[in-house]
Amino acid sequence: MLSHWHSDHVSNIDLFSDATVIDPNNYWPEGKIVEKLSDRIDILAFSGHSTVDLAVTIRQRDLLTGCTRVVSVAGDLFESEDDLVKEELWKDISIDTEKQLIARRHLLDVSDIIVPGHGRAFRVGRRPMVSIVCLQTFLA
Ligand SMILES: [Zn+2]
Repeated sequence: MLSHWHSDHVSNIDLFSDATVIDPNNYWPEGKIVEKLSDRIDILAFSGHSTVDLAVTIRQRDLLTGCTRVVSVAGDLFESEDDLVKEELWKDISIDTEKQLIARRHLLDVSDIIVPGHGRAFRVGRRPMVSIVCLQTFLA
């Protein structure tokens, strides 16, 4: 899946000649799920960083705790964890900060972990990885 058509994200795509390419230009940036790759993996289409920005959400069930957590691969909708506090890091390279903010808020709402376009994956702060509810569900 190509998150967006910036050269630092797509420049070697020709090395994967046998791969099925999910091209953001085939989607309208609706701000919601546009493809379900499986019962656990969805592709969402937004805009703001570029004209179409795809993100992937993956739901993982932890066998130990019974919790389901959501990992979002966000492309450059998030540059890095630092851009949560240093807004200029994403706003200065956004083509539409309002639309990108909507995308960012959505991904923060649904995700436990975000993999940004640059930098390490980070946990979304207010969502605990293991909650009492998950443990109770698992033990029931
Ligand atoms: Zn980019």
